[in-house]
Amino acid sequence: MSQTLRRVFRRTAAVAALCGAGAAAGCAPQVSTQQEVALGADYSAQINRQMPMLNDQATLNYINQIGSQLAAIADPRGIRYHFYVVNSDVVNAFALPGGYVYVNRGIIERADNVSELAGVLAHEIGHVAERHSIEQLQRAQNANLGLNVLYGVLLGRAPSGVEQAGIQVGGSAVFAGYTRDAEREADRVGVAYLMRAGYNPNGLATFFEELLSLQQRQPSRVEQWFATHPTTQERVANARAIIAATPGAQGANLTTDTRAFQNIRARVTSLPAPPDRRR
Ligand SMILES: [Zn+2]
Repeated sequence: MSQTLRRVFRRTAAVAALCGAGAAAGCAPQVSTQQEVALGADYSAQINRQMPMLNDQATLNYINQIGSQLAAIADPRGIRYHFYVVNSDVVNAFALPGGYVYVNRGIIERADNVSELAGVLAHEIGHVAERHSIEQLQRAQNANLGLNVLYGVLLGRAPSGVEQAGIQVGGSAVFAGYTRDAEREADRVGVAYLMRAGYNPNGLATFFEELLSLQQRQPSRVEQWFATHPTTQERVANARAIIAATPGAQGANLTTDTRAFQNIRARVTSLPAPPDRRR
């Protein structure tokens, strides 16, 4: 574990002890925004070193443009968000505390339109803005999960020998999986962010439907998404109900797709295959 993580967790250990087991939900995390950003930066640096990252500038610019627009609406703390693309076919996305958001290449390739990509980004930003990600990190820390878990979640497989050598002993997993309540809340706030940013919020629901359909056809491709973001027909129905109850959600002036998104998706699809497809 890094010095930053060690320091913050030493400081929060006493608070966690006071909150007690099972009291986590009603027990506000005592990590300051500044500490949260430091933690996120630390994990993000580890992930960027250890994961196969897609280093295509045009794609990164595009993701950061959409993501930053949503984050500015979402997070009143005014922290700067960073968006990265993991070069993996596995359909997954995750958010680190402090505004470090990752989407796998598989998300961009599977999204039908920009509203679906924006839907996933809005949902992940919701986990940060609502502080689910920092609470989850604290739970993972308490459970002493190793970085191997993190690797499994991201790539849907165990790390290879070479990758294993790069994994630092003692790094903690952030990715123990969100609760159903956290998922519902991230969907709810995500719909609001999408509307305010001018995106059709139905993209959130249609993308989850696509994931449920993929689960039938190619379960290994979406296993990690389902492990970390509990997604069921009930959840999709709930998201649809939220959208239906939101005034203006069917507005004709909301963006469902753009030429720019289709160009980026075509570009990503044409890049060299990711390591997990080449094997
Ligand atoms: Zn989620």
